[in-house]
Amino acid sequence: MEITGNRRILTAREAGLVACRRCARVWPMGTTECGRCGARLQSRDTGSLGRVWALWIAGLICYIPANIYPMLVTQTLLDTSKSTIVGGAVDLLHHGAVGVAVIILVASVLIPMGKFLAIAYLALSVHRGSNLSSGRRHHVYEMVEFIGRWSMIDVFVVAILSSLVQLSVVASIHPGPAALTFALSVVCTMLSAQSFDSRMFWDEDAPQRKL
Ligand SMILES: [Zn+2]
Repeated sequence: MEITGNRRILTAREAGLVACRRCARVWPMGTTECGRCGARLQSRDTGSLGRVWALWIAGLICYIPANIYPMLVTQTLLDTSKSTIVGGAVDLLHHGAVGVAVIILVASVLIPMGKFLAIAYLALSVHRGSNLSSGRRHHVYEMVEFIGRWSMIDVFVVAILSSLVQLSVVASIHPGPAALTFALSVVCTMLSAQSFDSRMFWDEDAPQRKL
C-alpha cells in the first residue's frame, strides 16, 4: 500500500492480481496467460535484466563502429570523400550550418550516450538502490522509451540524402557502414529499454517509498 499525498494506491500485486503488460488487463495472481490478448503474464519479469544488459552491450558494440566508420560516402567526378558522424558535423560547422551540426551532434552523440547511461543506471539501481525515488526513475525510464522511437534521425537523413543525390550525374551519396551499425545500435537500445520490467522500481523499500 502506498500513500501519495492524500491518495492511497493499491498495487495490483498487493491486491493479488497480475497485470498484462500488453493490454493492461488484470488477472488473478497465478494466471500464466492473458485471456484477452494472449500475452504471457508475470508479476515481475525477473529474467528481464539479463536481456536488458545483453542488448545494452550489443547496442554499445554497434555504436563504436558507427562513430569510427564513415556515415556518408560522397562521390563526385573528381573526388570521393567519406565523413563520420562527428567529422560531418564539424564540416557543417565550418560551412556555417551551425543549426544542422548541433542537431546531428545531439541526435547522434548526446542522445545515444544519454540513453546508454540512463539504461545502465536504471538497471544498476534495481540491484543497488538509488538516490532517486522510484517515481523519478520511472520518469527517466519513460523518457528513454519515448526518445527511442525518434533516434533514427541520422539514418533517415542519410537515406534521404542518398536517394536525392543519386539523381545527379556529377555527384552521388552512399550510406557508409556506420549507417547500418548506427541503426543496429538504436534498435538494440530500444529493445534493451523495452525489455526492462519497470515495475521492479516500485518493489524496493515498498513500505517507505514515496512518489
Ligand atoms: Zn493482455
